[in-house]
Amino acid sequence: MDAALKEIIDTFKCYNPNQDTALIENAYVFAQKAHEGQKRLSGEPFFTHAVEVAKILLDHKLDKETIAAALLHDTVEDTTATVKDIEKNFDKEVADMVAGLTKMDRLENTSTDEETVQNWRKMLIAVSHDMRIILIKLADRTHNMKTLDALPPQRRQEKALETINLYAPLAQRLGMFGLKNELEDLSFKYLHPQEYLQIKEGIAQKAENLEKRLDAFKTALNGVLEKEEIPHRLLARVKNHYSIFRKIKKQGVPFDQIQDLLGVRIITDTVLDCYRALGALHANFKPAANSFTDYIAMPKMNMYQSIHTTVFFESSLIEVQIRTEEMHRTCEYGIAAHWRYKQGAKADPHLDEKLNWIRQWIEWQRDLTAPREFLESFQTDINLNQIFIFTPKGEVKVLPEHSTPLDFAYLVHTEIGDHYIGALVNGKMAKMGSELKSGDICEIQTRKNAEPKPQWLEAAKTARARSKIKTYLRNKGMEL
Ligand code: MN
Repeated sequence: MDAALKEIIDTFKCYNPNQDTALIENAYVFAQKAHEGQKRLSGEPFFTHAVEVAKILLDHKLDKETIAAALLHDTVEDTTATVKDIEKNFDKEVADMVAGLTKMDRLENTSTDEETVQNWRKMLIAVSHDMRIILIKLADRTHNMKTLDALPPQRRQEKALETINLYAPLAQRLGMFGLKNELEDLSFKYLHPQEYLQIKEGIAQKAENLEKRLDAFKTALNGVLEKEEIPHRLLARVKNHYSIFRKIKKQGVPFDQIQDLLGVRIITDTVLDCYRALGALHANFKPAANSFTDYIAMPKMNMYQSIHTTVFFESSLIEVQIRTEEMHRTCEYGIAAHWRYKQGAKADPHLDEKLNWIRQWIEWQRDLTAPREFLESFQTDINLNQIFIFTPKGEVKVLPEHSTPLDFAYLVHTEIGDHYIGALVNGKMAKMGSELKSGDICEIQTRKNAEPKPQWLEAAKTARARSKIKTYLRNKGMEL
């Protein structure tokens, strides 16, 4: 067994000690042979790319079928192997993944912006039956971004732009925050080289200082939490370069004046202890105004859960996130956690629900015919703040900011949306296109014979509502 294969098997065995690894070993040998003699633009043997992609997925503890498919992912596109060969040598599950990835590759290489976006949507829909294909694609892109220097400058720019506009938001949507940060920083380096360097050097200069301050804060915080007997461990980090860049742009201040470069995480055992930790934190360190958000009580759509707050420490600001071990795992692995637990006893019923939610969301994109509309929905639905709207019975529904009563109606049920005639917001009549605010109580009035009209598209802001309205109108034979 060669060294790279041994490393792959050893890593896999760390989280799946009792599984047979023949599938991975065979995939390795098959792909190595298929790519024999091929070189990447960087001059490296082509097969090293497949190995690196598999390693990224091993970091996310994916199942053996995914690791095998990762090793094989370029064999059909770039060698004489066919999907049939893969199916014969392995199984249908692996062959389907490789076929999906080949399809994505062929759609990817296009010219205009418009086409890129169209194809991107087709790609997602084509593979959404098995989200592992998308995870392999994300790992593939991550490794390609790491070796981007080998491409001519024009191609570097295109790839970086596509990565920051499409792949990073996708990773975010799938709840894979580690990958998202990495993809952002890798693109940022090529899109804004000067600013990237400035931030990188700025952090390096301050490193010693930042470290000292972080240690002092951690010591103080440890004391506070121990006194309250709250079980915890602390993690600390300097924020990713791109998020600092975004802050500089948003606040319109130079790097030197960015206050909260540091982030600290308190990881504890239970939800109750999250709130106890928050209490202890705010009782001892003054919180900055308007910095508090509770994503535990109100989880984000991409399965993110944490309490966020920013506190003063020795005249500087430190962002603190509080979460349980389980929430922390979900933040690290995102939907990948689904396959991690698939064989084990510790299946998380919420993960199925989350997975369905993502599939549904991809499905809604089908009807957004204008590329611009698709791109906007893709980026804004997650980046926008969320608002929480109550049904008359007190049930809470999560919508993106700027949503309207019509969006709310479609979120509750398609039938409610399709038969919409009016809405009461906090007991008062409201227009179907008026903007809802967090905390609003929204009651939808319906009538059996009411039906969607083309002008409803102006009132609907979410991908879901727009998609449902368009489907209805098309079924009635209307051209859109
Ligand atoms: Mn590849």
